[in-house]
Amino acid sequence: MNLVFLGPPGAGKGTIAAIAKDAFAIPHISTGDIFRANIKNETELGKLVKEIMASGNLVPDEVTIKMVEGRLGEEDAKKGYILDGFPRTIPQADALSRMSNVDKVINFVLPKEEILKRLSGRRVCKSTGRTYHIIYNPPKVEGIDDETGEPLIQRDDDKEEAILNRLEVYEKSTAPLIEYYKAKGLLVDLDCSGKPEDILEDLKKILL
Ligand code: AMP
Repeated sequence: MNLVFLGPPGAGKGTIAAIAKDAFAIPHISTGDIFRANIKNETELGKLVKEIMASGNLVPDEVTIKMVEGRLGEEDAKKGYILDGFPRTIPQADALSRMSNVDKVINFVLPKEEILKRLSGRRVCKSTGRTYHIIYNPPKVEGIDDETGEPLIQRDDDKEEAILNRLEVYEKSTAPLIEYYKAKGLLVDLDCSGKPEDILEDLKKILL
């Protein structure tokens, strides 16, 4: 099953993908996570994208497309994938259709006020990427990862100015993909206002 998770930042794509990958036994491919891993490992790609990501702007299409092409060519992606955060522009979607057949595009739907609340309260463990929310999904001890005991941080791009920019970028560059995939008959809306377990059940009903 080849799936694309589409939706604004903060809608819960990463959270649902992390549990859906086990339910469907396919890899979760998050372009944001791959970029963050490159920044952490101080690779050339990491150096190139660091400032762009911190501001909430998009990494250039050619860089992102090449990276995804490489990742989809790996063995585990042959049985299917969940693409989370890609495509984010029409040229990326065109490139994806040349690389692979997408079975369904899940459109994560959440009101804007809720998105803002979710993003500004998000905290992450830098080494594992595990995410929490200060109100909706707090760690056992405030500010500390449950498993590694490391301090939680706020992503640079979850700070207020970057959040507003990311939402603008989403509206301008990514939201047009809703009509793009609707026209191809691939788009299904998923209401993301509930709990992750319930959203996963709704997703299973759509897909299985
Ligand atoms: P995410 O973790 O999906 O919110 O992505 C974090 C950041 O990584 C985005 O704000 C962009 O700077 C960059 N990024 C992730 N995916 C893409 C993409 N498909 N195209 C361009 N930039 C991306």
